[in-house]
Amino acid sequence: MTVEPFRNEPIERFGTEESKKAMRRALAEVRAQFGQEYPLVIAGERVFPGAFIDSLDPSDPARVVGRVARARKEDAEAALEAAWKAFASWKRWDQEARSRVLLKAAHLMRQKKTELTAWMVYEVGKNWIEASADVAEAIDFLEYYARAALRFKGPEAIEVVPFPGEDNESFYIPLGAGVSISPWNFPVAIYTGMFAGPIAVGNTVVAKPAEDSSVVAYKVFEIMEEAGLPPGVLNFLPGIGEEVGAYLVEHPRTRFINFTGSLEVGSWINKAAGEVRPGQRFLKRVITEMGGKDAIIVDRSADLELAAQGIIQSAYGFSGQKCSAASRLIVLEEVHDLLMEKVEAKTRALSVGPAEENPDMGPVINAAQEKKILHYIALGKNEGQLVLGGEKLEGPGFFIAPTIFTEVPPKARVAQEEIFGPVLSVIKVKNFDEALEVANDTVYGLTGGVYARDREVLERARREFHVGNLYFNRKITGALVGVQPFGGFNLSGTGAKTGSHDYLRLFLQMKTVAERF
Ligand code: NAD
Repeated sequence: MTVEPFRNEPIERFGTEESKKAMRRALAEVRAQFGQEYPLVIAGERVFPGAFIDSLDPSDPARVVGRVARARKEDAEAALEAAWKAFASWKRWDQEARSRVLLKAAHLMRQKKTELTAWMVYEVGKNWIEASADVAEAIDFLEYYARAALRFKGPEAIEVVPFPGEDNESFYIPLGAGVSISPWNFPVAIYTGMFAGPIAVGNTVVAKPAEDSSVVAYKVFEIMEEAGLPPGVLNFLPGIGEEVGAYLVEHPRTRFINFTGSLEVGSWINKAAGEVRPGQRFLKRVITEMGGKDAIIVDRSADLELAAQGIIQSAYGFSGQKCSAASRLIVLEEVHDLLMEKVEAKTRALSVGPAEENPDMGPVINAAQEKKILHYIALGKNEGQLVLGGEKLEGPGFFIAPTIFTEVPPKARVAQEEIFGPVLSVIKVKNFDEALEVANDTVYGLTGGVYARDREVLERARREFHVGNLYFNRKITGALVGVQPFGGFNLSGTGAKTGSHDYLRLFLQMKTVAERF
């Protein structure tokens, strides 16, 4: 099999009139399809169990983007059964053939890039560029894992030391049928990456998308089907996390659980999956990618203009609803006031509004999340100094003003707990020692950043800033597949490093055969 070397998919930035026009057309086409019903898909069969989950437009929750079938436990049971059945043949496919399905899917997704982008604008409130970057990342996952999987094929993938009189070989085999449970904030990229990895190397999957983003997940499922993925290899099972998600986590025949979401749910999954239940014949493999309380440190040697720009992008891109978003800003006191002037001015200039109008910031995802963020804002008013924002904005959607608290003590709740909204807590420190100490002092360890010109400062941070993804003199969001393998330390997760070759190893086991002649 010959494939071109992997290259990241370019992100559409809508710089031309033509691209803007195409996007407006796609938005209108998507609007015309609002309110349709979407089924579960089990072993290639469309199923309508009766109940639906309405997926709403967070820019205007009166608009029902789509009504997605709500799986019951018996559907989850059937989906897992279908995945095991499909595993018997999928595991025997040539690796090249499996990879080809992913490459074909990437090709189809590229053709539907604008359409998928438009669905996300309405379903999760991403602005155009954020939504388009999400699709580009999904294409990257398909392209990258298709190639990476080729490295794990056959006995030649593992070199063993020769032993006299024996033929020894070790090779990788897939695990079996598993579950992927994904969040709403990267509804195309993370959803795709989480099933594409396991499937690429011969596993089969029941994929449960998040309740708030199941319409676009269905669109992705259709692409996989069109690419030629055999029925049952991927099963589309939208539903309520606590119902079907939990059922599958506890199920004795679930071989692996690939989870991305909150610390709360991830820790429960880790515990629940650890119990060996009647009929179970293996220990479940659990991969959990969870939250963050990510910090940017600004050193006295920093380029403050550059820093302010990166801080705004990292804190307020997609309204701060990224696991990698900057939610703490740790600043050396000498540069604090000057930096904050710049950060405040740039924050004040941000536009907030309905995502279809392509503002800097759209809404937050739903009413519950809006309530949670406003609760943290109320807390922050007691814990620090509110200098900007701090309120819900007018309009039918879940719009929250970009918010800044200064003078926040490092142990304050707004400096320790994940808020997942457009709220930045600023902590003033005396020197770089203190900055590192504060930066490392949360339960998380996902992303982090340092703005400095001083080489010693950067080298020290390289060793001592304990996060899975560390960025110098640039924004701390937007990790690129293959370029910056992604995943965190501490309670940010098991460090899966998505977008790396290692990621696929998580869904494989090594078999060793020794034959004496
Ligand atoms: P969430 O934990 O509420 O939900 C994630 C998924 O888990 C959803 O599909 C949900 O239905 C399901 N779920 C909920 N309860 C469950 C249960 N008891 N059993 C099984 N499944 C269950 O998270 P969310 O609100 O969708 O996403 C936001 C969170 O995800 C944030 O904490 C964010 O930091 C994190 N996140 C992490 C990464 C990463 O790579 N580390 C990436 C994106 C998002």
